[in-house]
Amino acid sequence: MDLTDDEALPLPPPFMFECNDCTRLLLDLANKTNADTGCFTEQLAVAKHLADVHPDDVPETHTRRCDQCPKYRTLPDAADAWAEHRARDLFLPETVARLM
Ligand SMILES: [Zn+2]
Ligand SMILES: [Zn+2]
Repeated sequence: MDLTDDEALPLPPPFMFECNDCTRLLLDLANKTNADTGCFTEQLAVAKHLADVHPDDVPETHTRRCDQCPKYRTLPDAADAWAEHRARDLFLPETVARLM
């Protein structure tokens, strides 16, 4: 299977390799991705961990090419979900990260 740049997993930022939990969650995700099975649960687990434990490393609000940030901005109770959405940028290709 050849992956295009849009579909290949990006190299996660260095801080994720210094965290045991990040490393474990990324390996779970990579194993699922390589096996070409659904990895929805694993994506959510990584994003939730990033938002909970590494809030300072969650990217800023997307100002371009994102349909989700403008929606989250209008939802007062969506702060956690919004942070998890932005955290997806750190470990997923942009086209996948911004689907939800
Ligand atoms: Zn971590
Ligand atoms: Zn966004």
